[in-house]
Amino acid sequence: MDAAEFRSLWDGLTPIGLSQQGGYLRYSWSEADQACRNWFRAQADRRDMEIETDKNGNLYAWWGPRHERNAVLTGSHFDSVPHGGAYDGPLGIASAFLAIDVLREAGAKPRRPIGVVAFTEEEGGRFGVPCVGSRLMTGALDPDRARGLTDADGITLAEAMDATAADPTILGADPERLDGIGAFVELHIEQGRALDGADAPVGVASAIWPHGRWRFTFTGEANHAGTTLLADRCDPMLTAAFMVLAARKEARIVGGLATVGRVESDPGAANVIPGTVRAWLDARAPDQADLDQILEGVQSKVNERAERDRTQVSVTAESETPLVDFDGGLRDRLAALLGSAPVLPTGAGHDAAILAAHVPTAMLFVRNRTGVSHAPGERADDEDCAAGVDALAAVLRELAC
Ligand SMILES: [Zn+2]
Repeated sequence: MDAAEFRSLWDGLTPIGLSQQGGYLRYSWSEADQACRNWFRAQADRRDMEIETDKNGNLYAWWGPRHERNAVLTGSHFDSVPHGGAYDGPLGIASAFLAIDVLREAGAKPRRPIGVVAFTEEEGGRFGVPCVGSRLMTGALDPDRARGLTDADGITLAEAMDATAADPTILGADPERLDGIGAFVELHIEQGRALDGADAPVGVASAIWPHGRWRFTFTGEANHAGTTLLADRCDPMLTAAFMVLAARKEARIVGGLATVGRVESDPGAANVIPGTVRAWLDARAPDQADLDQILEGVQSKVNERAERDRTQVSVTAESETPLVDFDGGLRDRLAALLGSAPVLPTGAGHDAAILAAHVPTAMLFVRNRTGVSHAPGERADDEDCAAGVDALAAVLRELAC
């Protein structure tokens, strides 16, 4: 595959959901999502692949002996975080179609079905819960809970599906479909700079770090910013600010990551000492003990600080995901196949992590020169994307032809 071939397919997708403020707004079940799905259907039609949507809204295109089991599934997701990059998700889907082109041009014939998949609501960018499509399919997400998830405008997932003529009443575990999948390979842009450091265009994932999201609620006393003496204040913003710094320090100590990307203040006026502050801590670490150490360290330091600030702190775990170790046999086989490609862990969650608990699963990463991800600056070189297509084609040939 040469870079120009990649670019000509890629250019068909890049205008969809591009926001005027920069980055992409490709929320699931939105107009942009429908346009992405239409692009997918057109790609499948062009390749005479059978198109199918499962009960959870995940979209498939099939090549090969369709009704046999033991399929090799490859693909990713279309949906983006708010103002996300072009590559996170769609690169895995576009590369899957192009890898099939490479195989066909080489005269390869699949002995197992090869499916290209677009999983729905992977980022949780619209409804707050990541990997909705794959979690529903594997039974990891209750369909009633999924139907009731709401977006920022109060629209439920069920209503959003209804509006596009998709049927939300049939959401739920799909064991028969899952049984028919023999392996899942997700190609994804790297969300860091490890491959750049290793001078390699493509790598293989070893594991996904354990990670979680915790909501800290700091409570104090709302009061006048102009008349309340500093000594008289119970200002929860101070405790919240301390938490942000403590999280950074605890993460650094264990070689993990900590981020506070969302803070809410009540009443949220510039001239009022807040009564309540909520802050969301996202933390990730190489293993569970490190992650526990970050959280315990932050909590104990924040509790001390709250005493000084005369505030209260409560912590709620919103999501916790354990370490995902990808299938060792498959990982080593693919790394060897790709000429000793670097094998690296990642701190980011993926549908592959959900599938990995059920079927042999692997991930390929394509180099990201800047490491920027979940932001408009996310970018991979066309040459590297083409190398990713070739790597995926080699993997599909190895597993399915
Ligand atoms: Zn992604």
